[in-house]
Amino acid sequence: MSYDVFVVGGGPSGATAAEDLARAGYRVALLDRAGRIKPCGGAIPPRAIRDFAIPDHLIVARIDVARMISPTGRSVDIHIEGGYVGMVDREDFDEYLRDRAAMHGAERLTGTFLRVERDSKGTHVVWRNKTDGREERSQTCLVIGADGARSGVARAEVPGGDKIPYVIAYHEIIKAPEGGFAANADYDPKRCDVIYDGRISPDFYGWVFPHGANASVGMGTEKDGVDLKVATAALRAMSGLSGCETIRREGAPIPLKPLDRWDNGRDVVLAGDAAGVVAPSSGEGIFYAMAGGRVAATAAQACLRSGRVRDLKLARKMFMREHGTVFRVLRSMQDAYYRSDERRERFVSLCHDIDVQKLTFEAYMNKSLVKARPMAHLKIGVKNVAHLLGIVSPKWS
Ligand SMILES: Cc1cc2nc3c(=O)[nH]c(=O)nc-3n(C[C@H](O)[C@H](O)[C@H](O)COP(=O)(O)OP(=O)(O)OC[C@H]3O[C@@H](n4cnc5c(N)ncnc54)[C@H](O)[C@@H]3O)c2cc1C
Repeated sequence: MSYDVFVVGGGPSGATAAEDLARAGYRVALLDRAGRIKPCGGAIPPRAIRDFAIPDHLIVARIDVARMISPTGRSVDIHIEGGYVGMVDREDFDEYLRDRAAMHGAERLTGTFLRVERDSKGTHVVWRNKTDGREERSQTCLVIGADGARSGVARAEVPGGDKIPYVIAYHEIIKAPEGGFAANADYDPKRCDVIYDGRISPDFYGWVFPHGANASVGMGTEKDGVDLKVATAALRAMSGLSGCETIRREGAPIPLKPLDRWDNGRDVVLAGDAAGVVAPSSGEGIFYAMAGGRVAATAAQACLRSGRVRDLKLARKMFMREHGTVFRVLRSMQDAYYRSDERRERFVSLCHDIDVQKLTFEAYMNKSLVKARPMAHLKIGVKNVAHLLGIVSPKWS
């Protein structure tokens, strides 16, 4: 069997790329090694639900408040107006996306990617079939590498693909307190808590994300020597969740920076975590992985139609045109505010400002920076500078 595009990795990026290509009538393979649930908080914004037609039954919780908690324990509740943050369980979410791609004509393959080989007949993906353990060799015109943060495709095929900086994120899936808010005053099944506290994470943040019957409690850090399990135990104690049954403990890297190149100038293009595409500050990757899968599919189609390999560059170009500014703003926010408890205190203080709330939530919910209110931008800019220069007290908003 030969394919137009062979997609390696059936997470949100690979499944989206495979679905788009299959819908457009191309012969597509979607290879996933299966057998492991992706460790993930599972929070997705309305834009993801809208753009990728995520059905209601996959949303296991609808969050209407985000609570930001500072190192001194002060908190700011940001109410989400006109929408909600959706929570998905990755076991069901990813399988649904893979199935949907197959329904539109992608061929699902179960096994492990080994390498790309080239000969006079063209490009071949070599992979190990999970069913019988045999090596298979599938011919293809193009390869999309969507095999996650430690992408074998990126490492072997794309210059710089072996040098992505990471945050290591760890979380525990626990049974939610029975009776929700009534049983535990610190826990609200419709509220996400985001904890900015050096004792939980010296350079990122901790979280409590409700998932209906369960919850995800975790943290991330780039620093060596931080005991992730100890930090998460402290977070559970702080949130009154120590006594809840633990269902799974798991961790994985979150890439910190989009790669400078997403293609090899020949026959491979990357998508999602494999391309380093996760939003700084928040670590949000599901929406961006799906958006990355979509632009990789568009670039692959352009390349197949024109025969010009430079069209593969369209993937990064289109993605950065739409999301590059938000990534730059979030990167500078992380650099400025995640480096000490004093800065974290100032950051939560800044979140009291209703305009900051509106802007950050618009950026999260709909992935756009609102341009309409120049005075609000100016005021936020002035406050931001005042906090960073230490002119105002961290307790002031
Ligand atoms: C603890 C944690 C919490 C997170 N919380 C959130 C959150 O709340 N919201 C959010 O938006 N993002 C979150 N993220 C980030 C998000 O999970 C990722 O950005 C997203 O999953 C990236 O999707 P992807 O398709 O690019 O890669 P992945 O989801 O990693 O999918 C890669 C796929 O490739 C397959 N694969 C890998 N290697 C091979 C191989 N050799 N052969 C065959 N198949 C292979 C895997 O089986 C997998 O299915 C979190 C990440 C972590 C680690």
